[in-house]
Amino acid sequence: MSIIGTPGEDGFAFTIAYIGIGANLGDARGNVADALERLQRLPGCTLMAASGLYRTAPIDSSGDDYINAVARIATTLDAEALLQALHGIEQAHGRERPYRNAPRTLDLDLLLYGDRQIASATLTVPHPRMTERAFVLVPLLELAPAIHIPGRGAAQDYAASVADQGISPII
Ligand code: ADP
Ligand code: MG
Repeated sequence: MSIIGTPGEDGFAFTIAYIGIGANLGDARGNVADALERLQRLPGCTLMAASGLYRTAPIDSSGDDYINAVARIATTLDAEALLQALHGIEQAHGRERPYRNAPRTLDLDLLLYGDRQIASATLTVPHPRMTERAFVLVPLLELAPAIHIPGRGAAQDYAASVADQGISPII
């Protein structure tokens, strides 16, 4: 699909969503780059912008440093279908879930889906831990400095509380 031109002129509605991307197994940088390409190719999705890559030490987890980024997409998928599509990309990278917070080849989290607040058995949006994590907030604020998190206020207001978490941009 293309959103070049007048958004919505084709008669379908699209939603701006933000995706958190993280990897710390195998070729983590390559996996994040590939995830961005797969987001671009996903039916019903257009990759609009991607943050730079960041390196962070694992939190409540183990293994190598994480490589993290955030992507902004425009999508005609509903939130549940988008989550399924994200899981499909994780599976393509052989993601396994042996235990909670295990090291992962690729983790894709749906951070924000328009201005929606969703609480279902499988999906919570805004992502419940996004305001506690520098590896989400820092790349998100790079892409969207004035972004508002539905139900929680300005993302910028949470930046100070994660400032002690080590995160470095990859030049
Ligand atoms: P985490 O990313 O929290 O470390 P997982 O990637 O293993 O853990 O996700 C665990 C489950 O969280 C998924 O099966 C998914 O159904 C659920 N989930 C709920 N809300 C979200 C969301 N906003 N984004 C991604 N997964 C979510
Ligand atoms: Mg996840």
